Amino acid sequence: RAKDKGRNIWHVYSQELHDELSERLDLSKKLRYAIEQNKLTVFYQPQVDMTTRKIIGVEALVRWIEDDGSMIGPDRFIPIAEDSGLIIPISEFVLQTACRQLARWRDLGFTDLRMSVNISGRLFQLPDLTEQILYAIRSAGIPTAFLELELTEQVLIENSSSHTQFMHDMRDNGITLAIDDFGVGYSSLSYLKHFPINALKIDRSFVKDLPDDKDDATITQTIVSLARNLDIGIVAEGVETEEQAEFLIERGCTIGQGFYYSRPLPADEITQLLTQPDGLIPVKIS
Ligand code: C2E
Ligand code: MG
Ligand code: MG
Ligand code: MG
Repeated sequence: RAKDKGRNIWHVYSQELHDELSERLDLSKKLRYAIEQNKLTVFYQPQVDMTTRKIIGVEALVRWIEDDGSMIGPDRFIPIAEDSGLIIPISEFVLQTACRQLARWRDLGFTDLRMSVNISGRLFQLPDLTEQILYAIRSAGIPTAFLELELTEQVLIENSSSHTQFMHDMRDNGITLAIDDFGVGYSSLSYLKHFPINALKIDRSFVKDLPDDKDDATITQTIVSLARNLDIGIVAEGVETEEQAEFLIERGCTIGQGFYYSRPLPADEITQLLTQPDGLIPVKIS
């Protein structure tokens, strides 16, 4: 009897595994085609000085628009792209698009604006990653100092010499590095000492239940003090309410990114926001 049950569970499990694998395969075929057909686009989400409500930078976030206009989010296709190697053409597209867009905004007079781009750990396998990044910057004609790369903690714990070399190459070229989703990855903080890191982005899971959740309040405050004591920048992700913004500002985190200020938007809508005389007007979200 127990055996039967076990067999059943195995059967159900293998069916699910099969479905998942074939869905992934399906999606990676569709993704390959979407890349060829230019169905990917880049949205931008403002990073805001929460004390003045001015947009100081934007984060480039890839979007996949299907033929019927619906959107597939990066959380669904980036992991598949990483497994299939498609992350390489995707990243090249995002980096080039983001650099060119920054050049356009600079032409319009927004010369203080910074651009953040997410860098997947998989890209570290590329022997010419540094050259590719420098090439995208040079062909867009933007100063290196306005590009920031967002890396996750997973990348940093791999304390390999090629990673270290890459980060120092970036620093030597004036490109800044931020740690994305800070706090949810590995607990070793020693990499903050070894690598030239310019900013920490507090993961939005810690911001979500502020200011009421005591643990999250403590964690956020600790991350802010850590960053300030190490003299590196700090950005809060996922700011959705005025109360969260106030809490963060009081603790010394003045830069925020989140739906309270703006969702990720197409470039032309960001241009409109940049032109607003009073900076970003926070939005009530329900
Ligand atoms: P991320 O880099 O941490 O980007 C922030 C994510 O949080 C974005 O999701 C953004 O829409 C979302 N977000 C921002 N503010 C709020 C808020 O107030 N509330 C909530 N609930 N969410 C908020 P998105 O665009 O779906 O991207 C998800 C992840 O996919 C990114 O997380 C990043 O890890 C990855 N990703 C996106 N674009 C790229 C890319 O071009 N290359 C790579 N390698 N990864 C990317
Ligand atoms: Mg990011
Ligand atoms: Mg993040
Ligand atoms: Mg994330």
